[in-house]
Amino acid sequence: MNAPHTMFEKIWERHVVATRGENEALLYIDRNLVHEGSFLAFGALAKEGRKVRKPRQTFAVADHYVPTLGRERGLAGVADPEVRGMIELLERNTRTHGIAHFGIDDPRQGIVHVVGPELGLTQPGITLACGDSHTSTHGALGAFAFGIGASQLKQILATQCLWQKKPRTLRVTVDGALAAGVTAKDVILAIIARIGTAGATGYVIEYAGSAIRALTMEGRLTICNMSIEAGARAGMVAPDDTTFQYLEGRDYAPRGAEWDQALAFWRSLPTEADARFDQEVTLDGARLEPQVTWGTSPEEAAPVGARVPDPTAISDADKRAHALQAIAYMDLKPGTPLVDVRIDRAFIGTCTNGRIEDLRAAAGVLKGRKAVIPAWVSPGSTAVKRQAEAEGLDRIFREAGFEWRASGCSSCAAMNGDAVPAGMRCASTSNRNFEGRQGKGARTHLMSPAMVAAAAVTGRITDVRTLLR
Ligand code: SF4
Repeated sequence: MNAPHTMFEKIWERHVVATRGENEALLYIDRNLVHEGSFLAFGALAKEGRKVRKPRQTFAVADHYVPTLGRERGLAGVADPEVRGMIELLERNTRTHGIAHFGIDDPRQGIVHVVGPELGLTQPGITLACGDSHTSTHGALGAFAFGIGASQLKQILATQCLWQKKPRTLRVTVDGALAAGVTAKDVILAIIARIGTAGATGYVIEYAGSAIRALTMEGRLTICNMSIEAGARAGMVAPDDTTFQYLEGRDYAPRGAEWDQALAFWRSLPTEADARFDQEVTLDGARLEPQVTWGTSPEEAAPVGARVPDPTAISDADKRAHALQAIAYMDLKPGTPLVDVRIDRAFIGTCTNGRIEDLRAAAGVLKGRKAVIPAWVSPGSTAVKRQAEAEGLDRIFREAGFEWRASGCSSCAAMNGDAVPAGMRCASTSNRNFEGRQGKGARTHLMSPAMVAAAAVTGRITDVRTLLR
């Protein structure tokens, strides 16, 4: 009798084309997403005189470098000639190979990890690759989705297959009902704080438990997005009615008889009872508080009611050394209540928290209040921006003093110039708080959209629950 399978094992086995050694397989890749950073792979392909093997399985979107201001002028509004050149190069490469491209002017433009699920390109049971580490996001729909480098992208473009080492499996179970003001972002920050940034290295995480099942698809996308920050190859949530309702009717979702067929397959994917994971971690969701990072690693996070830790009290030598350096970089004093830390900038957006539900949560806090620091929103996609405008959220943000910008990666990595000035402290909905991530010398505090909104109106780290009351 076959041993019970995890969802990941089922998907892996369906995609193995060949094996080598004990633990490596050539996987068939169903979906390949590319952005401006794909130029190296396309260049290598051209050098070898090769064509894209299956152009209809690759989709391109301009996101990392696109400006978030002046977008009404399209490409002409891109002031930096180097950036304009990259956006144009993506357009040329995709046209040459017959690849669908959602360029700077396209109503389907947005951050690649927002656009994939939004258009129904991301589906349960598929393998999906993209040259960005936060490709783990797509696992929220029950896909095996992972980030790749330029040479791997070239291999996929040329063959639609990729050699991969089989990861081990880790189940993170979060049970219990989340309290008001506690969101998916808080759950994933608490998970990373618990297991560390290397806690899932070599693993695929499956998120399970009643708290995960109760999340919307958007919340699940936020959780899976940050799997990579725990070192995981990918993160996944088993598809269920939440997934199916989210997907139905989206542009690239199956329709009619194909939808019924797909649904039957998708329902067969969840992990079977008694399937064995290589490692298990459990968290009590009901005890979680809003989280905020104090350091320069996503694991350096704590409940908002905590104090900046004393690094000398950390027993692990490596973590102690990192914390010492982080506290110096962040210009914090051990023992300071986190809610006493002043904030200079507030940023809402990115593939972690730039979806409509995130904007609604932030607007809910901002309504009738004013930001006391410079703040801006870059919706995760042009479609999210349109939806938010239809709901009047843009008015709430503007009236609160936020800049309402166009969609792109923006201040997540500041590749498009949306940098946080050196020495400034930014409350951010993004996923990385490394030194200089949001700009040289910038200091990042990761938190949920509602928490960023709370920080914007008070000018310091704030427990959003005090404003909800
Ligand atoms: S928003 Fe940030 S993490 Fe997401 S795709 Fe863009 S640069 Fe990468």
